[in-house]
Amino acid sequence: MVSTEYERRIAARFATFDQDGNGWIDREDFSAAAKAVLVEFATTPRSDRGQALYSGAEAFWQGMAGIADRDGDQRITRDEFVNGAVKRLRDNPDRFAEIARPFLHAALAVADADGDGSATVEDTVRVLRALGVPEEAAGAAAARLDTDADGKVGEREIVTAFARYFTVPE
Ligand code: CA
Ligand code: CA
Ligand code: CA
Repeated sequence: MVSTEYERRIAARFATFDQDGNGWIDREDFSAAAKAVLVEFATTPRSDRGQALYSGAEAFWQGMAGIADRDGDQRITRDEFVNGAVKRLRDNPDRFAEIARPFLHAALAVADADGDGSATVEDTVRVLRALGVPEEAAGAAAARLDTDADGKVGEREIVTAFARYFTVPE
């Protein structure tokens, strides 16, 4: 049996993926996420960083669809998400990290103003907010992402934390 708290957390993850809130997750949600990050950082989709973010979003979508879209209709319903994605990702968090890595890598590059391979905690908050994470949660999440407390968020930190957040323990 699943607990109410567990179901609440699953619903929150689903809502994060379902960017347009139409009740299912599809390719549009992933390109909307990429677009929101590019708008936040005034980066053009045609730039190298913009194109990398869109292809990362596409790879992320393909990976999620491969795991969860059981009927192959190019939509992940809430049922497919709960009974496919969540269970399989929990069994294999490394797989999820691999699926998400190109997108997170590209998002970090968009937010990485000085090109040193990591983004400031402040800019990471902007990424999370652009992805629809509420302000307060984004601030707390970004601070937690900086596990070595150097004021910056690197790829390993964001991939690990992202995988942990989405591979919801029961
Ligand atoms: Ca959607
Ligand atoms: Ca489906
Ligand atoms: Ca850090």
